[in-house]
Amino acid sequence: MSKKTLIIGSGLGALATALRLTSKGYEVTILEKYHRAGGRLNLLEKDGFTFDMGPSFFSMSYEFTELFKSCGVDNPLKLNELNPLYAVFFENRTIPFLIHKDLKKLEAEFAGIESNLAQKVEKYLNAAGKMFHDTEDIVIKQNFTSKFHYYTQLARVPWKHAPKMFRSMWTELEQNFESKEVKVIFSLVAFFLGSTPFQTPAVYSLLNYTELKHDGYWNVQGGMYKIVEKIKELLDARGVKFHFNTEIKSVETDSNGIKAFIDQNGKKWDADIYVANADAASFRGQVLQREKYSAKNLDAMEWTLSPFTIYLGIKGKLNNIHHHNYFLGENFKEYADSIFKTSVSPDKPYYYVNVSSKSNPACAPEGCENLFILCPVPDLRHKPDWSDSQQLADTIISDLSKRIGFDLHANTISKTILNPIDWQNQFNLYRGSGLGLAHGLNQIGGLRPANKDEKFNNLYYVGASTVPGTGLPIVVISSRLVTERIEQDHATV
Ligand SMILES: Cc1cc2nc3c(=O)[nH]c(=O)nc-3n(C[C@H](O)[C@H](O)[C@H](O)COP(=O)(O)OP(=O)(O)OC[C@H]3O[C@@H](n4cnc5c(N)ncnc54)[C@H](O)[C@@H]3O)c2cc1C
Repeated sequence: MSKKTLIIGSGLGALATALRLTSKGYEVTILEKYHRAGGRLNLLEKDGFTFDMGPSFFSMSYEFTELFKSCGVDNPLKLNELNPLYAVFFENRTIPFLIHKDLKKLEAEFAGIESNLAQKVEKYLNAAGKMFHDTEDIVIKQNFTSKFHYYTQLARVPWKHAPKMFRSMWTELEQNFESKEVKVIFSLVAFFLGSTPFQTPAVYSLLNYTELKHDGYWNVQGGMYKIVEKIKELLDARGVKFHFNTEIKSVETDSNGIKAFIDQNGKKWDADIYVANADAASFRGQVLQREKYSAKNLDAMEWTLSPFTIYLGIKGKLNNIHHHNYFLGENFKEYADSIFKTSVSPDKPYYYVNVSSKSNPACAPEGCENLFILCPVPDLRHKPDWSDSQQLADTIISDLSKRIGFDLHANTISKTILNPIDWQNQFNLYRGSGLGLAHGLNQIGGLRPANKDEKFNNLYYVGASTVPGTGLPIVVISSRLVTERIEQDHATV
């Protein structure tokens, strides 16, 4: 019997789950509020330019290999390894630091700044790597049946890693490196979790291991949206139905459980199994009306920073900038301490810039370049008013123009700004939080909203705010975990 499955949302977690479920004989329908599949992994096409809307690279590329292999299809993605991984520009220093995986090259980059860097990094990454491999199967890739199960699994992690749970990533870096530059650069991974190195536990030094040693960083030939296009092609061929501009607003239940989910037009959608790819915490509050996830309780949780993103189509070629770049100021600690809670836009913002036309010329017209700028900002709980968006964008563009010696204002052909309100409204991101629930110790593993509903035994969750957490490869793992759960409960015959 083929189980009829309804997936709410079409982010990467949804698409990967649909691919896995259809491989096992499930019949899948996908509902999506936006007009196109992909969620945050989306596309912006404007004025002859193409931009990746959100993600621009990822680690743990083997999770995509596993996805396609386990579904019996050839991997349709062609990946480029980032080399160097990225460039970091500090204020008052015109030449950026290039971050290489090759430690001898990395050491040469920091000559005169950090002595014996290769040796220090090797030691630091060995410890981080042990942490990664000792937790990967026991904690990260696990379905937890209860909090007790989670704590039992945690107890199996070698005790030598325990201190890393109680000190911050910054403290860990201070114990391993001397120069401010190296500490700041290695701590940037904390922002990928949507937090800061001063709040992120040192266990996440494992991300330095995944970037610098384990698998590096990758992007996709033809742009990141190819991930969505290629999976969607496979799903279309398998008969998966997509319904766009369809937002689930409420649920109808009876004594047997969920009868149907109801969209904005009052249409009822029923199935045997439901998977919510909408945020696993706010969906429980806003759609299921659970008290534990009321607005008050959701606001009391820890959420990742919001994105403030600018998409610029530029006339001319930019030589003083790389594919992936970070532009930092001089007041790292004060900046990191204030960005979460401030209600005013920063006058000296820190930001990330991606120029995908450097490796994928089809993204921009001849002689032009496409720039994606991402500035992490407080979510809408702390800064609800974004009427200063234009001003913040101008500040960033002026700063970038000065630092790369190119007048971006005068050469702009296309400009789009998305502030946290836009991100919230487009993809139902709670209070505009870019990466979903944060990854503090009280919100991970068995303490994160589970991928199986507490009350309804045919409702599941996949995506950034359930287990294991945020980021493209992690969401692919999330799709594997939820599929295993569904299979355990409802295996087709
Ligand atoms: C600006 C930005 C940059 C990022 N950069 C990177 C990066 O470089 N590398 C990386 O690995 N990760 C990055 N991430 C994180 C990554 O994008 C996410 O972790 C991942 O895409 C989340 O996927 P998801 O499956 O949780 O689904 P989402 O992308 O959240 O998709 C969920 C979908 O559900 C839809 N939906 C929500 N509610 C409803 C409803 N009620 N009814 C119908 N549909 C609904 C939404 O519209 C959305 O399409 C970035 C995120 C952002 C915002």
